[in-house]
Amino acid sequence: MIKDKKDNIKEFGENHIPIVTFKSLEGIDWLKCGFSTRLGGVSKGCFSSMNMSFCRGDDAVDVMENIRLFSEAVGFEPQNIVMPHQCHTTNVQIVGKNECGRGIHLSLLKNPGNHRSDKQGTPDNLTQYKDIPGTEEEVDGQITNEKDVVLYVLGADCVPVFLVDVEKKVISAVHAGWRGTADNIVQAAIVKMRDNFGSDTKDIKAVIGPSICQDCYEVSADVADIFVSKYILNKSRLSNNDSNQPKDQSDDQQKDQQDVQHPIGSDMSIVRPASGDFNNNPTQKYYLNLWEANRVNLINAGIKPENIEVSGICTKCHSDIFYSHRAHGNDRGVNCGYITIRSKL
Ligand SMILES: [Zn+2]
Repeated sequence: MIKDKKDNIKEFGENHIPIVTFKSLEGIDWLKCGFSTRLGGVSKGCFSSMNMSFCRGDDAVDVMENIRLFSEAVGFEPQNIVMPHQCHTTNVQIVGKNECGRGIHLSLLKNPGNHRSDKQGTPDNLTQYKDIPGTEEEVDGQITNEKDVVLYVLGADCVPVFLVDVEKKVISAVHAGWRGTADNIVQAAIVKMRDNFGSDTKDIKAVIGPSICQDCYEVSADVADIFVSKYILNKSRLSNNDSNQPKDQSDDQQKDQQDVQHPIGSDMSIVRPASGDFNNNPTQKYYLNLWEANRVNLINAGIKPENIEVSGICTKCHSDIFYSHRAHGNDRGVNCGYITIRSKL
């Protein structure tokens, strides 16, 4: 299915739903974690077929059926899903039983026939969905230590990061697009796990899930510049050529750079000019490595490098298997990652 990565995609349940799994988490018997593909669902057209988002214009009945099929295959109750309203923030929220069902159309699950509209679009009666508090709160990371609470993270090129404290049995699912990566949402999640549950970073395993690879992720100089300033020392600012040369920098600027701890990873591993080098890149285009930037964020937050798994699966390279914003544009569905603590072993 994916060259060199096909062992990571397994078929689950009677309907043989393909789901990405992560080797470093498979040995943890109290945990379930994975990432959907676009295969095995009922959505049609550009949403075909396992679209997990109600926010793209897909028929909500179809989305709910996808969620039901996916949940059944993996072995959790759809009512226990907590779906975040992601907005590229660094907001991380602790959730539990009280939040279960947030963001999904439970009413469709119970009686879908009553809600399907003749017109294309969403059904007309979604009261149970609207009644769940917090549905509109902007949340890009969730944490729980409660069994059977299913944390979701949605994406179509953005990076899903899963965190597992194997000692305290605390889990987190984080959504990191370029903004969330630059603003270091994974650190925000780790700090919250530590402060609220006593998590020790040496006990936390991390997985960087399927998302866009560096070769597929061309960004403008403005975005590249944010990452250069955060991750790369002694490189010129990209969006203002007048201040490019080190000799033009003020003493204060040079001192600021010297004060920054050099992150792990080579310069080019996070931001790479599309042509030439940083000081001579006529295209003003760059390639950004969100996997490496998040890996560096995790390490700088105290996670051991050997406890980080990078899935290495690109959603755009494999846009026949995953939804990809860069490949499909706005007319597309959304993949989901999930993580939950099992009550039954
Ligand atoms: Zn790619």
